[in-house]
Amino acid sequence: MSLLKTLFANCRDVTFLHQKQREGKLSFAESIGYRLHLLYCKVCRLFIHQSEQIEKCVHHSNSKHKSELSADAKIKMQRALDNEMQ
Ligand SMILES: [Zn+2]
Repeated sequence: MSLLKTLFANCRDVTFLHQKQREGKLSFAESIGYRLHLLYCKVCRLFIHQSEQIEKCVHHSNSKHKSELSADAKIKMQRALDNEMQ
């Protein structure tokens, strides 16, 4: 991306820059272009807000499901599955 295009990013660029920002890979110029765009673009601010909400839900859902089944419950479930497969 050229410096001018980076500084005056469009909405499509910002979705890409948002992902780079999440990974901590934005250059200084990209960071300025990203933040500048978000100052005046309500649609991209909404997109980023919704993306962050979805990421939080997925993260929360993943961490919640990891601790739901005890080791004993997993063994019982595996036995039940084994019995059904025979
Ligand atoms: Zn935008």
